[in-house]
Amino acid sequence: MKYRRLGRSGMKVSEIALGSWLTYGGYTEDQSATACIDRAYELGINFFDTANVYRRGEAEKVVGRALRKYSRDSFVLATKAFWPMGDGPNDRGLSRKHIIEQVNASLKRLDVDYIDLWQCHRYDPETPLDETLRAIDDLITQGKILYAGVSEWTATQIAEALHTADKLFLDRIVSNQPQYSMLQRYIEPEIIPLSEREGVGQIVWSPLAQGMLTGKYKKGEALPAGSRAAVEDPTVSGSVQRFFTDENFGKVEQLRAVAERKECSLAQLALAWILRQPNVSSAIIGASRPEQVEENVKALDVVLTAEDLNTIEAILLN
Ligand code: NDP
Repeated sequence: MKYRRLGRSGMKVSEIALGSWLTYGGYTEDQSATACIDRAYELGINFFDTANVYRRGEAEKVVGRALRKYSRDSFVLATKAFWPMGDGPNDRGLSRKHIIEQVNASLKRLDVDYIDLWQCHRYDPETPLDETLRAIDDLITQGKILYAGVSEWTATQIAEALHTADKLFLDRIVSNQPQYSMLQRYIEPEIIPLSEREGVGQIVWSPLAQGMLTGKYKKGEALPAGSRAAVEDPTVSGSVQRFFTDENFGKVEQLRAVAERKECSLAQLALAWILRQPNVSSAIIGASRPEQVEENVKALDVVLTAEDLNTIEAILLN
C-alpha cells in the first residue's frame, strides 16, 4: 500500500480507501461487507469512509462492527452529515445543533471515541458558514473529531470556508470529497487548482463510475448477476445505469484496449489514472466482494507513461 497526506494535514491515508455507500448495510450482506473490510485492512487500506445517512445509520454500524477488532490508531475513519436523518426541521443541514447531535450519534453507531475525519456532506445555504465552522472547531477541541472536510462544495464555497476559518482563527478544512473519474471530471478546472494552492486534498468518490469503469457492463448484454446495476431497488440500480450511454460505452471499449496493452484490468487503469493527480489524497472505492478490493489495490502497481496519459486523454475528450 502507498499512503499520502490528507491535504496539508500530517495524517496519512491509503491511496485507495474503502467506502460503504449503497453496499454495506444495504445490498451487500453483512458477512460479505465484513470480508471486504477485513481484506482491505489486510492489504494496507487504512482509510474507511461512511456517512450517517447511508441506510440511515446502518452502514456506520456495519463498518464500526467490522473495524472493532483492529487497534483504533491503525485506521482512519471518515463519516459525514447534512442529508435528512428524520422528518423534523432540525434533522438535516449544517447547523450547530444538527452537527453536534449527529457527531454524537455517529460515535455511538461506529462505537468509537473519536472520528478521524468528519465531513460536511453538502453545502448548507441555510446556515451561516461561521456557525458550521465554529461547531466543527469545538468538536476538534473536544477531541470528538480530529480533522474536518467537505463534500461536493464548489471552489467558491471551499475558498469561503478557508477564508472564514482564517479570519476567525478556526481550524481549516483539510479535504473535499467530490465525484471524480474518467467519466466525471468537473473538478479539474477550478477545484483542483484552488485546492492545490490551499492544501485541500481530494478524496474522490465513485472512481470506477460505480462499476461502469470495470468494463463489466456491456452494451446490449444482460446485466451481470449480483451487480449494482442488477439490484432490484431502482434507486440503487438507477444510480449506476445513468452511466449507460452510447458515449460512455464507446469510451469504455477504447479504454479496455489500453488496459489490455498495459496488461492490467480496466478498473486498475481507471484508478491509476485518478492517482496521477497529486491533489488526490485517496480514491474511495466501493466493493461488494473481497476479490474486487484485491484487484483494485493492484492499481498501485500500474505506471502510466506520458504517452499512456495522452492516449487516454484523446479517448476521454473524444
Ligand atoms: P466505485 O465507483 O468504486 O463503485 C463501486 C462498485 O463497483 C462496487 O460496489 C462494485 O459493484 C463495483 N466494483 C468495484 N470494483 C470492482 C471490480 N474490480 N470488478 C467488478 N466490479 C467492481 O465507488 P462507489 O460508487 O461505491 O463509491 C465509493 C464510495 O464513495 C462510497 O462507498 C462512499 O463512501 C463514497 N461516496 C460519497 C458520496 C458523497 O456524496 N460524498 C456519494 C457517493 C459515494 P457491484 O456491487 O456491482 O459488485
